[in-house]
Amino acid sequence: MELFFYILIVVVLFIIIVIALKKYYEQKAKILLSLKNGICPSCGAFSDDVGHAIEYQILNNGGCSGVSDILYTCIKCNKTYFVQERAGGCCGR
Ligand SMILES: [Zn+2]
Repeated sequence: MELFFYILIVVVLFIIIVIALKKYYEQKAKILLSLKNGICPSCGAFSDDVGHAIEYQILNNGGCSGVSDILYTCIKCNKTYFVQERAGGCCGR
């Protein structure tokens, strides 16, 4: 019976970790999508014809195979978002 409880606890912990990770990545994807659309996820400032609300700076260009480090900055609330983006499509050989 003890073994059963042990297994149950492990399974429950595993499920909690999976759900937490899923939420984390969903949140991350949401922020990235928002930034790419020029909308600040924090204060809601958006880019229009007048000017950009979001500026980005490529810190490290990973090239074809690597991951690029991009720093997004909101001009309005000065919040920065560090994003690691996988560069895809340029090595289609
Ligand atoms: Zn902002």
